[in-house]
Amino acid sequence: MNKQIIENIMTEYNKKRLKASHEADLKREKLYRDLPRLAEIDKELSLSSIKLSKIYLSGPEDLDVQVDKLKQEIDDLKRERQAIYRQNKIPDNYLDLECECKKCRDTGYTPDGKRCTCFNRQIINYLFQMSNMVNMLEKENFNTFDINIFSNEQYKNEKLTPRQNMYYVLEISEDFCNNFHTSNMNLLFYGGTGLGKTFMCNCIANELLSKEVSVLYQTAFSLFEIIENHKFNKLNESEENRINYNMIFECDLLIIDDLGTEVGNSFTNAELFNIINERMINEKKTIISTNLSLEQLRDTYSDRITSRVLNNFIPLKFYGKDLRFK
Ligand SMILES: [Zn+2]
Repeated sequence: MNKQIIENIMTEYNKKRLKASHEADLKREKLYRDLPRLAEIDKELSLSSIKLSKIYLSGPEDLDVQVDKLKQEIDDLKRERQAIYRQNKIPDNYLDLECECKKCRDTGYTPDGKRCTCFNRQIINYLFQMSNMVNMLEKENFNTFDINIFSNEQYKNEKLTPRQNMYYVLEISEDFCNNFHTSNMNLLFYGGTGLGKTFMCNCIANELLSKEVSVLYQTAFSLFEIIENHKFNKLNESEENRINYNMIFECDLLIIDDLGTEVGNSFTNAELFNIINERMINEKKTIISTNLSLEQLRDTYSDRITSRVLNNFIPLKFYGKDLRFK
């Protein structure tokens, strides 16, 4: 992640806040024009702390009396202001800044100093725009998906023809998008190359990105590269890598493409389990796409991983003739 991205995002936040405060100013001006007494009251109230400090500084003998009197004045003014608001049916928060994000008030950081989820979502969107996927997404989405390229003849021992099967895959995938926030569905796309797995991943990514869901798309190969850089190269880890690493856990949807092509070892296996498990605990969704069959999946990964995946992911098999040359 280069600094430029963070700067761009912070600039966006500044713009939002400036816009909000400008809008509040305009509303206030209009309010004061329509109800000039409100302007007087607000002006009086804004002077009250100066008045209070003056009283303290002059140190009069009847300090308490004077302070009480001032407090009474302030209360009266507030009551009068409230009455005017009521009379004119103005909501109490009428002049509050209108923030897009209530959690961080468009600052990017929550009150406890953490990066807000809206900040992370923007980082992911930037990363996504920088990846080659954006171009791909224009071409590969549910609208451009053509079911007719799949053969309607029986294929080997499969019960459904490839086309019937794709109807099923399509239905589950659209369901996955439509119920993204309410279900705890994960998807496993498996089967040979050139059968539309990546295309389907792109359709889903495209659909969910348009609903402001944060999507991280990584091939298994680059996923493990990010993890290794994070674990073994901590001192020299780039900002980009660090953010990518966090996003693996934080994004709403993680798509792991081409699982099984990475150079695996016990370390990457443990990490894969960790990712899947952690994301499930946090109710975040994952799609895994692999050229391996379910048997190969069992042979390649530990029982822990395989059973986690098989028990919590809907397996969708892709089969038929390789479509890449059509
Ligand atoms: Zn926020």
